[in-house]
Amino acid sequence: MPTTFLDYCTARRDWLLDFIEALVAIESPSDDPQAVNRCGAELAARLAALGGEVTRLPPSIPGVPAVALAKVGDHLRASFGSGSRQILLLGHFDTVWPIGQLATMPLKREGGRLYGPGVFDMKAGIGLATLATRAVMDAGLLQDCRVVMLWTTDEEVGSTTSRALIEAEAGRSAAVLVFEPSLPGGALKTSRKGVGQFEMVVRGVSAHAGLDPGKGVSAVRELARQIIAIDELQDPARGVTVTVGVIAGGTRANVVPAEARAIIDARAVTRADAERVGRAMAALSPHIAGTEVSVTGGFDRPPLERTAAVMALFEQARLAAKDIGVALEEGSAGGGSDGNFTAALGVPTLDGFGAIGDGAHALHEHVEIEALVPRAAVIAGLLQRLAADATAAD
Ligand SMILES: [Zn+2]
Repeated sequence: MPTTFLDYCTARRDWLLDFIEALVAIESPSDDPQAVNRCGAELAARLAALGGEVTRLPPSIPGVPAVALAKVGDHLRASFGSGSRQILLLGHFDTVWPIGQLATMPLKREGGRLYGPGVFDMKAGIGLATLATRAVMDAGLLQDCRVVMLWTTDEEVGSTTSRALIEAEAGRSAAVLVFEPSLPGGALKTSRKGVGQFEMVVRGVSAHAGLDPGKGVSAVRELARQIIAIDELQDPARGVTVTVGVIAGGTRANVVPAEARAIIDARAVTRADAERVGRAMAALSPHIAGTEVSVTGGFDRPPLERTAAVMALFEQARLAAKDIGVALEEGSAGGGSDGNFTAALGVPTLDGFGAIGDGAHALHEHVEIEALVPRAAVIAGLLQRLAADATAAD
């Protein structure tokens, strides 16, 4: 059976390339909902033509009125097959590239590579997921198990309007496969750091630097001491990084500054470390009498931890790859993705099922053409294994 998936996907190589190119040709920057919806309409039509039950899902945040969310395109859900158990295929079709980027990064096949804005992150991944789903559907394997795809439109800007949808869909799923770009060489991501962002605001008292310096309390001076304290929260050996990425403060050279701010990026491999950093940030207090320090923010994306359930899912993927002679590796990523949300719910999640390539968010963004077909076949083999699991559990 698994070799037939390779044959099946090989026979549809041109179909797959056309599918990916059609999505890349319709530019879809996160902040341009009309453009994103044009790309979404193309994707929806293609998924419906394959028999998918496609629903457009307007952006939403629990408790926030819909009009406030008009700057985000509609997310897409597509369901294939029947059965009570669900496998979720997750990704996004927004990109970091503005409209017109195709002029500098033309869609082209060259030297065995397919180039274009968003091809690696992650429109090729959507193509791979779709071909693999076609393969298992045509093999009659989706009778007792359904494959649900959720393709969102705000991943590159923090997933605020898709998070609730992602979590609801993951909650109904036995496993989540995320189609973000693979690690170099095609390795899957079995762990991802949790990502937090904090803002610190320091308030002091302004005064004339020459006439009344004693009446002032410098917020900048206090911030300088805070930065040293924040730096000490790092623990590189445990994968905990804390970076003060932006600072600002003061108004003029001759004024004791009344206010200063910093924006801080924090990352951690484990939930315990993320919580420790969050608590330590919240507990920071002034060193200099007369200043006030306040900290807002937190870990928006909890870590995707390399748990036993994640490793069991990876083992299934590794065996599916081995069936067709592909050695599948695993590794970790410093950045977060929507897989961090699903993993935090305890749903086994594997990330990095997207194409093999390079240059996410960079001008040389591309995928390796000859690696696409075997990758789709590996994913089909994994879906077959997960569908068989579903049958056994019913
Ligand atoms: Zn991405």
